[in-house]
Amino acid sequence: MQLTNRSKVVSNKDQSFLEKIYLPAIIKGMATTFSHLFKKRPTIMYPEQQREIAPVYRGQHVLKRDENGAERCTSCGMCAVACPAEAITMESAERKKGEEHLYREEKYAKTYEINMLRCIFCGLCEEACPKEAIFLTDRIVSSDFERDGFIYGKDKLVEKIDQRIDVSKRQTPEVLEFKKKPGLKHNTVFDKSKIGSGKAH
Ligand code: SF4
Ligand code: SF4
Repeated sequence: MQLTNRSKVVSNKDQSFLEKIYLPAIIKGMATTFSHLFKKRPTIMYPEQQREIAPVYRGQHVLKRDENGAERCTSCGMCAVACPAEAITMESAERKKGEEHLYREEKYAKTYEINMLRCIFCGLCEEACPKEAIFLTDRIVSSDFERDGFIYGKDKLVEKIDQRIDVSKRQTPEVLEFKKKPGLKHNTVFDKSKIGSGKAH
């Protein structure tokens, strides 16, 4: 019984003389190969040459500081829960008196690690974060010879106080508007003068 009309009868006819010597087939194959010599190469000489990437490219993460240099992350774990690759781990600690200039909230991440070999750069950690503490950036994760080198800790993730990373392109107009609203705890900036000689680092 024929279920579809897609079946084909296999031809079993004898090969012609030209088919037997394979010459036309070889010439056809070589012509295809040589035609690629004159086409534009899709490869580039990385890292000397770099491709243009989208402004919202999802690359290496940054843990942001607030306007006064205090770490925004409060170690709530929302990013780790949202991460489909289970790439994020952290250890919390309680902020001590006098550390207000270092950590924005009462609880902070004593350690924070992202396994870049697990990460699929989906950006869900960024979306889950209620403190606008983690963002993906346009930086490319470096290659390494050791697997350990891909576990990024706070030393690589927290932005340097004097080398801030602009993430405004990743923030929606709604979030930027929300940040302008005075009175919301989320927008409160720590007043350094209240702790005397405290210095952000
Ligand atoms: S980008 Fe995605 S996979 Fe990578 S750490 Fe964030 S949530 Fe996990
Ligand atoms: S980065 Fe954001 S979501 Fe993750 S632990 Fe810190 S505050 Fe919470």
